[in-house]
This record gives sequence, C-alpha cells and structure tokens, in this order.
Amino acid sequence: MSGASVKVAVRVRPFNSRETGKDSKCIIHMQGNTTTILNPKQPKEPAKTFSFDYSYWSHTTPEDPSFASQNRVFNDIGKEMLAHAFEGYNVCIFAYGQTGSGKSYTMMGRQDEGQEGIIPMLCEDLFFKINDEDNKEELAYSVEVSYMEIYCERVRDLLNPKNKANLRVREHPLLGPYVEDLSKLAVTSYTDIADLMDAGNKARTVAATNMNETSSRSHAVFTIVFTQKKHDSESDLSTEKVSKISLVDLAGSERADSTGATGTRLKEGANINKSLTTLGKVISALAEVDNSTSKSKKKKKTDFIPYRDSVLTWLLRENLGGNSRTAMVAALSPADINYDETLSTLRYADRAK
Ligand code: ADP
Repeated sequence: MSGASVKVAVRVRPFNSRETGKDSKCIIHMQGNTTTILNPKQPKEPAKTFSFDYSYWSHTTPEDPSFASQNRVFNDIGKEMLAHAFEGYNVCIFAYGQTGSGKSYTMMGRQDEGQEGIIPMLCEDLFFKINDEDNKEELAYSVEVSYMEIYCERVRDLLNPKNKANLRVREHPLLGPYVEDLSKLAVTSYTDIADLMDAGNKARTVAATNMNETSSRSHAVFTIVFTQKKHDSESDLSTEKVSKISLVDLAGSERADSTGATGTRLKEGANINKSLTTLGKVISALAEVDNSTSKSKKKKKTDFIPYRDSVLTWLLRENLGGNSRTAMVAALSPADINYDETLSTLRYADRAK
C-alpha cells in the first residue's frame, strides 16, 4: 500500500502496575501485520482479527525480533513521512487511543531515558539531513516551528503561554486555515527545537493544572514548516518547496459516558468526541477516495470531506488529503479490563485504512 495516503499502525504497550496489580490478562495477540483481540467476557467467541500496515508488539524482550522499539517505529513511520516532506508533501502523524495507552510515549517518548519518540527523532533526522545534503551549495533550508494545544475547540499557544488562551482560527485565501497570532519560531538546530519542545510540554502541564484539567483532555499539535529553496545558477532562477509537518498527540479517546462525566467533563467529552469522530470521518473519506482513485480518477479528493466540523480537522486540512501523506499510530492497552476501549480503538484504526 505504499502509494496510499494513509498508513495505519497499532501498538500495544506493556502492562502498567495497575494492570499487573489486578492480575490482568493480555487479550491482544499480534503476528506479522495482524492484530487479534479476545473478548474476555465471551471467551468462547472467536477472536476478532484486523490487519494494518504495522502491528507493534511489546510483550517480549527487546532482543526479540518481534519487539517494537522506539527506533523501529521511527524507522518505519517517521523516516517515511520525513522523506515525503523532503519531496514537498505536507505530512501528518497522529497518535490515537485511550488515556494511558501510549500516545505520548510514541510521539514524545521518555527523553531522559534515551527512549525518544517520533517527534524528537524526526526533528533530529531533519537537521541531520539538512546538514548532510550533498548539493548543499544549491539548496537553502529554513525551519519554523509552532506548538499549540486545542482544548474544548479553543487554541492555546504552547510556545508563548502569555498569549491569549483562545486564539482565533482564520482562513488565508491561498494558504488555507491558520491560527492568528500563534508563535512561529525559526530554528537552526535540533537543540533549538528540543528546547522549544521542552518548554511547550511544561507549559502544557502548567496550563492544564491551572485550569483544573488534565492534558489528556486536549490535543497537542506540533508543527514544523520546512522550506527548501533551490537556486539554479545557469538560469539564475529560484524555486521553493514548502512542506508542513504536523505531529499530533490526540486527546484520550475514552468515551465521556464511561467515566461518569457531568458538567465541564461532559462538555469536554463531547468536544473531544466531536473532533475525534470528525477526524475519523475525514481519514476514512480519504482512505475511500484513495482506494477508489484507481477506478475513477476524476473524483475530487476534497469531495464530501467534513473538515470544518472541528477546529482540529479544520487546522489540519492542508495536512490531510490533497498534497499530503498521513500516518496514524493507534495505541492499545494489552489488558482485559480495557477490552471495550481497545476494541473501539481497533475499529477506529480499521476505518482509517
Ligand atoms: P497516553 O499518552 O496515551 O496517555 P502514555 O504515553 O503517557 O499514555 O503512556 C502511559 C505509560 O505507559 C507511560 O508511563 C509510558 O511511558 C508507558 N508506555 C506507553 N507505551 C509504552 C511502550 N510501548 N513501552 C514502554 N512503556 C510504555
């Protein structure tokens, strides 16, 4: 499926201490690209089977070939998406799943323990490539980053927390949707980006604590705008390729009703559900159009795609569909107690193919 615009991976994490304490059973099995789930309430029911571009296993030793390390996930997904960005595509990688399933581990990782996730590894590789290009004399690069959080359809700037807590989303006639006044900072090295990422992650936690919420209820969107300028000395003409790389750690996908939510929590839940449902619709619409393009080339990619239904999908419009490449990692808990949520995550991922 290398030509398709949506790559889908699922990743199961190890048991956490709560699950181990409850003597949880592992209901997920993976073989090759296939993932199966057993219903612990109906053990006689046949296991449900799904297949994805990648099924990432973790219940084994790191030496075992079936173990999906941070490096492996980056090599499969991050490297491919970064290569597309160098070709001039917009790219988007997002992590989906219930709170505690491993989204942040996959996207950010545990940097202090040398287990960097996709975002830091991709940024490091980006600068490695920029500094390593053979035809450096003819190419000039510029890199700008922004980092925002979307909570209850409101956009907050994580690189300038003093900025208004509710930034306006507008549309530029040529460049498409954007956030007014969002900080966009030019960076020239991986260290620059790493410092901004750190500051942004801290701002996210502080803002969440002040507002009496948790960061699992908001979407974090890290964006890199990457420009390659080429100067042809013979003709004295310059050309420019601009790619936007959006790296998204989505809000927890657990349904509001499963946590007995009322008041603000219920409203949060409704907003989260709305953006995740819309994102799901957008991605399945893209996957469908993608699968059908071989039959009817005339079908326009933007037909029937409800981008405007949530701030998240509206802002990601230029990264989903059209001239873009998308990858999704659906994060799974292995435990029987999370069966319903895990099955719903697998179904969501399945619709994105
Ligand atoms: P989420 O972002 O979905 O709420 P986290 O990424 O914070 O979940 O993961 C919850 C915990 O599980 C964290 O302590 C994280 O380090 C750990 N974890 C998640 N996925 C893995 C994995 N594949 N391998 C090892 N630890 C993991």
